[in-house]
Amino acid sequence: MATNKLHIAIVSSPGIGHLSPVLLLADRLVNNHNLHVTVIAVTTSTSAAQSQLISSITTNNHLSVIQIPAADISSIVAPDAKIVTQLCVMMKETVPSIRSVISAMDQHRPHVLIGDIFAYESWVVAEEFGMQKFVFVTSNAWFTGLFVYSPVLDKKVVGQYVDQTQGFEIPGCRHVSPDDVVDPMMDRADDSYRAYLDQAVRVTLTDGMLINTWEDLEPQSLDALRNNDILRSVVNNKPVYTVGPISRRSEPVDVKSGVIEWLEKQPENSVLYVSFGSGGTISHEQTKELAWGLEMSQQRFVWVVKPPTGKGSDGSYFSQMGGTPVPPDYFPDGFMTRTQKLGFLVSSWAPQVEILNHKSVGGFLTHCGWNSTLESITSGVPMIVWPLYAEQRMNATMLTDELEVAVGPAVLPTKKVVGREEIEKMIRVLMESRKGKTIRDNAKMLQESSDKAIKGSSGISIRKFIEDCWSRI
Ligand code: UDP
Repeated sequence: MATNKLHIAIVSSPGIGHLSPVLLLADRLVNNHNLHVTVIAVTTSTSAAQSQLISSITTNNHLSVIQIPAADISSIVAPDAKIVTQLCVMMKETVPSIRSVISAMDQHRPHVLIGDIFAYESWVVAEEFGMQKFVFVTSNAWFTGLFVYSPVLDKKVVGQYVDQTQGFEIPGCRHVSPDDVVDPMMDRADDSYRAYLDQAVRVTLTDGMLINTWEDLEPQSLDALRNNDILRSVVNNKPVYTVGPISRRSEPVDVKSGVIEWLEKQPENSVLYVSFGSGGTISHEQTKELAWGLEMSQQRFVWVVKPPTGKGSDGSYFSQMGGTPVPPDYFPDGFMTRTQKLGFLVSSWAPQVEILNHKSVGGFLTHCGWNSTLESITSGVPMIVWPLYAEQRMNATMLTDELEVAVGPAVLPTKKVVGREEIEKMIRVLMESRKGKTIRDNAKMLQESSDKAIKGSSGISIRKFIEDCWSRI
């Protein structure tokens, strides 16, 4: 390794939604900004997708990935604990392994340690080794505003957030509706809420924040984080760097998968892609209504089907499988036969970026995970929002009300089963109506803005981050 390069270690917590942007950020820092990066990927053994993702990264002298198994927390955390609790405890218990990895780099110790928001315990290791410490928020600036301001809201708001009648003022940002608060705020009595508040405070004690967004996407929230007196003091006047969109791009492949071969035969912009991300699941009843809605809309579709769960939400967060045929008993009688020409079903896992970039795809029914959202935006594909967990309700509101690149159901899918007629209507609006045209046009404009940001504002911001790191060495 050349010693004149800035060396950065980036810690990723388990979950495709964290690991994927961390690897992509590492790749961008090495290839566009000439840095040396070591990714420390904490992974769980249940996710084959995580290992696959790591092996797809081209490592070299300047980019290395060290995979470490997440600590076994089965004796300290109940198996039904919320994902946030599990991730926070898992990352805390994994600190000794992270320390060993950093300690072993005694010849070329990284100057900087970046962690995603669940990797906050590893900043202790950065302090021990005299490294600078930064957080990489793999979501957006509006979420960041709510997140860092949550310890203040904790003191101000009495009772459950979800029972309030008015939205929450986040200084300088759009307000957040009680329905849209992030998962750990849904129940203040749950352990995950305490873990979330701790996490929020720890993030403000870093040397700065890198956020997977860009200036033109969220000017208001970014301005608030940097210039609003109240919010700026909450983040201790720390710098905010925009690095987005950090998002996977479609790459040419030698052998096309079945779904891509099927897409090749469909007309341009005619197919709705349906997926609830790596972790999202829906109930039996909702699966049947969705099947009816798709069939009644008479639009073409690709649907990534996961086994239905009791009430849905983040049921497959730690385990993504795939490959087995989709059992017909998930659907209404005869659905698979009747939609044989119209639709293509994929079991559990699909090549999402390749699908979204295919010219036949004209819409995306999505759970609004931030990576999926960015992949849709960077492909110019308008959306139907179907938020399930984490900060996805805020993402959905941003997409429908602010950016106007999506439609969504009247009542959140986490509150009530979305009926077949409403699903049919949303699909028709997005794929064929006049109202849909404005949304489709907006999606194309947003794609252009995302393209410009990579070389433009976010490139400048990353260079500023590098300069600021050097100035402290
Ligand atoms: N993904 C994929 N195939 C699938 C489901 C998900 O490639 O069938 C990828 C998707 O492209 C995205 C990531 O997994 O990059 C999911 O991240 P996101 O933030 O959207 O949601 P999460 O799964 O973390 O809730």
